[in-house]
Amino acid sequence: MISADAIQRRVREIAEQISRDYQSLERPLILLSVLKGSVCFATDLSRYVTVPVNFDYVAVSSYGAGTQSSGHVQLLKDLTMDVGGRDVLMVEDIIDTGLTTSFLFDHVQRHQPKSLKLCVLLNKEERRITPVPIAYKGFDIPNQFVVGYGLDFDELYRNLTAVHILEP
Ligand code: 5GP
Repeated sequence: MISADAIQRRVREIAEQISRDYQSLERPLILLSVLKGSVCFATDLSRYVTVPVNFDYVAVSSYGAGTQSSGHVQLLKDLTMDVGGRDVLMVEDIIDTGLTTSFLFDHVQRHQPKSLKLCVLLNKEERRITPVPIAYKGFDIPNQFVVGYGLDFDELYRNLTAVHILEP
């Protein structure tokens, strides 16, 4: 669906925008990556941004071996950094219904960061149930189940450098 070159070009563009927007940081920007799907995206972004960054990770319950969201979100791994008073950029692989992201956004917001913004690689707008405030977006995609560049099916295909449609 999206070639490795196109992904890298877009990631660089987003990183340039982030670097401009956060150029007057007081403390490093916390890149909060949502395990495991956004690790490739967050890592590549971190290589291209020119502002100082810290890394932190959260994990929520996933689809398991299925391709449909259960709608039930559970926190499996919490923040390890104190994000209170800090600039936080939450990095997501894909937003589908928006349930996972809005759950995490509210969770992080409760720790009272100085700012909290959302950066997502892939957006399936037509599937949205809960609105989410996207600040940086890679690509809008149609309602198809995709794998690669961090995204899995049953823990496979995360290492692919492009984004592919999963054939049933
Ligand atoms: P949401 O809560 O927005 O419905 O779902 C978000 C999560 O569902 C993503 O973080 C991702 O783990 C999973 N997901 C949604 N769509 C896809 C897809 O097309 N491919 C894969 N591999 N995961 C998806």
